[in-house]
This record gives sequence, C-alpha cells and structure tokens, in this order.
Amino acid sequence: MKTTNITLRTVNRVLTARPASDGAGVKLNRVFGGDRTNKEFDPFLLLDEFGSDEASDYIAGFPSHPHRGFETVTYMLDGKMLHEDHLGNKGLLNGGDVQWMTAARGIIHSEMPQQEAGLMRGFQLWVNLPAKEKMKDPAYRDIPAAQIPAVGFDGVKIKIIAGDVVLNGEALKGAVNGLSTEPVYLDVHLPGGTSVEIPITDGHTALLYVYENNVNVEGQLLKAFDVASLTKNGTVKVTSADTARFLLLAGKPVGEPIAQYGPFVMNTPQEIEQAIQDYRDGSLAS
Ligand code: FE
Repeated sequence: MKTTNITLRTVNRVLTARPASDGAGVKLNRVFGGDRTNKEFDPFLLLDEFGSDEASDYIAGFPSHPHRGFETVTYMLDGKMLHEDHLGNKGLLNGGDVQWMTAARGIIHSEMPQQEAGLMRGFQLWVNLPAKEKMKDPAYRDIPAAQIPAVGFDGVKIKIIAGDVVLNGEALKGAVNGLSTEPVYLDVHLPGGTSVEIPITDGHTALLYVYENNVNVEGQLLKAFDVASLTKNGTVKVTSADTARFLLLAGKPVGEPIAQYGPFVMNTPQEIEQAIQDYRDGSLAS
C-alpha cells in the first residue's frame, strides 16, 4: 500500500516476554503485566502467551480463582480449554475461538485444558475497566472462530477480534465493540516482503506483539516475543521481510490510578482490601 502524507507511529519502548508460571503451574510467557506494567500500556494490564506441546507445561490449568475490576480476553490458536464460572457459564474454546469475560465486580472461574497431549497455544489479555464500571455486573461471551470477521488483501490476513478499523480502505467491525476503552484486537499474518497500514485513533495506546518471526516498524526491528509500545498519534505501518504473525492491540487509556493484588485490579488499596474480604466471605460471587 502507498503512504501519502500520513503520520506514522514509531516505537517508544520494547519489552521481551519472560518465562513465568501461573495457575496451578502452567508455564507461559508473560509479555507484560504484574511488575512489568507501564502507563504506556493503559488500558491493557497484562498479556500472556502460552504455547507448548509438552502436556506437563499446561495440564494443571487454572483451577477456580476470582477476578474483579477488569476484563480477560482469551484467544486460542491451538488446543482445547474449558471455562466454567460461578454464574453457570460454560464454554469450550478451540483453536481460533475467543472468550471475552468482563469480570467487573466479580467472577470466580476455572480455565482447564481439555487435552492430555498435543499443542496448546494462545493468549490471555487483561483490559482495564474505568472506575465507574469496575463494580458493574459481570458478563461473559464466547466467540467461535467462524464469527470473528477476517479480511484478506495482498496476501495479508487479519482477524478482527475487537474494534472498528479501516483496513485497505474498507471500514470493518470486529466481533467485539462498543466498550468504553474502545479496544482494537487484531491478529495479523503478513507474508514476506509486504507491509500493512492500520490507522489507530490519535491519543489511543497501540501495542504490537510479534509471535512469529520478525517485523519492522519505522526502522525498528521487532523479533518474536517482543512487544512494542508505539507513539500516540497516527497510523501503524508494519513491514515484514519474511512471513510473520503479530497481534496489534489498541485502546483508549483509562488514565486512573491502579491498585493491583493478583487477580483484583482496582483504583485504591481500600478497594483491594474490600475485594479480598468479599472473596473470603463469598459476596464477590453473589
Ligand atoms: Fe482467570
């Protein structure tokens, strides 16, 4: 595609995913989050990539645990994962499926692999909620792969998991939209020797996570397992010498203080104390 007099975002900061363990001992790569969170990622709190064909790396899964104050988005590339929660929702995620869970004032759920061998691969993203939505009713949505809009041009393939985007001159709607943080979540496959331009609303955060091979953003090489936060205005232009795959995440910053304790993300330490107490006495899930 041709670039004509548009502002292109450049790379501000690069982090590389680190091996970590969560749940009952699931080995994963923590791209960012926890002690490696940063205002530049707002409204995103955490991104994990899990990927292994060794059952011992994933089989223990994520038994019953709570969340409050944000949304979790699970995107499976390969494998089978079963979600069950205290509201009675039950969803089996297969390769290509997405689960969008708005924990808000509280969900207790489990996320357990439904396979004893083979490849398990995917991502979990945490999206913050503004103060006025942290205590709203929880919600849960399963989005089968077939319901995720996809677009192809010049050999480029893009799945639009969330957001309203203009790609190759065409206005497109993702599977999820209408949220106050206006998240854009794209899974992009670039063939070698091509580029793609993705306009993102000025002032919104844009993050790019490479999960296969390398890409280039305005002269900066990004390797697999690198996440880049980009400058705040303009279009994201990504070029690739070889076939590459990446996630593009964008959203409107919440701009509020963050108090976090494990699976609770609130604005103040007092609200965290309340969340812990509510979980102990059972009212988090009532
Ligand atoms: Fe969870």
